[in-house]
Amino acid sequence: MTRALEQRSAWIIAHPVGHSLSPVMHNAAFAATGFAARYAALDVAPAALTQVFGRLRGADALGANVSLPHKQAAARLVDELAPEAAALGAVNTVVNQAGVLLGSNTDVGGFLDGLLELAPELGPGGFTALVLGAGGAARAVVWGLVGLGAEVVIVNRDAVRAGELVSRLETAGLRRGRALAATADKIEPGAFDLVVNTTTVGMAGGPAATALPLLERSQLERLRGGAVVSDLVYRPAVTPLLAAAAEVGLRRQNGVAMLVGQGARSFEAWTGLPAPVAVMRAAVEEALAG
Ligand code: NAP
Repeated sequence: MTRALEQRSAWIIAHPVGHSLSPVMHNAAFAATGFAARYAALDVAPAALTQVFGRLRGADALGANVSLPHKQAAARLVDELAPEAAALGAVNTVVNQAGVLLGSNTDVGGFLDGLLELAPELGPGGFTALVLGAGGAARAVVWGLVGLGAEVVIVNRDAVRAGELVSRLETAGLRRGRALAATADKIEPGAFDLVVNTTTVGMAGGPAATALPLLERSQLERLRGGAVVSDLVYRPAVTPLLAAAAEVGLRRQNGVAMLVGQGARSFEAWTGLPAPVAVMRAAVEEALAG
């Protein structure tokens, strides 16, 4: 066996890619399991994406994660699509199966894994969720929650986009639960068991780093007792939303849960090994603290 085959590679493909925690997380996982592979960041402009996907078919390539702005284009460049990726029209994980590229979306399962670790009582479904935002991350979150059997209300700054997300998921064949769009002033907070922030509001360095996403503090105070607040943002570790949720006494988690959840599923798809989840989480938290 050649040296190239002994050491395989995986990449995060994004543009820009500099802030990604995936290399630290996956290299810690490869080291902990003794799997002979390296994970690196590749900054790929849209015009170069097709060529890079050609490289993913090589014998030394395990596959890749795909992030902004390439998730939709990746769904067109792979040879086969797993069901979630087909429904969402977005791929975040590519697995090289002897030159055949399989595209999947581990954001859906990764989000649910993290959520159900904190709130296992949501597993059987039958709950009501408020999703703030209607971008790419919201697609995966809403699809996952509806798949569990939740009723999901989507509120977005651009209300038209919230309606478009509902239509898109209905066309893709929503199963079990229900999704509908609403405006923030029309919602009754006491109806919700779960709030998920999928907007960029609260993100360090973002346009609204110190704001609450689309909800007033008084609405947060009126959430159902025992409700859970999940923020997909992980920089900072405690966002303004999570700080307010703590003051109100709600259970809460930041975006590290989803980041590690989706990464663990990608790792398992590439290696066939159980992901060393605790090691991956520790690597991410150490990098965020540093
Ligand atoms: P996206 O597709 O660009 O969507 C951005 C969303 O944020 C849209 O709903 C947008 O609303 C909203 N938004 C932006 N600025 C706003 C403001 N000032 N006020 C209210 N709403 C605002 O981005 P994305 O890929 O979905 O990512 C969204 C967030 O999730 C990011 O912070 C990202 O880091 C995080 N994320 C985390 C993970 C994880 O693993 N933890 C995974 C994926 C994403 P409009 O439609 O009105 O513009």
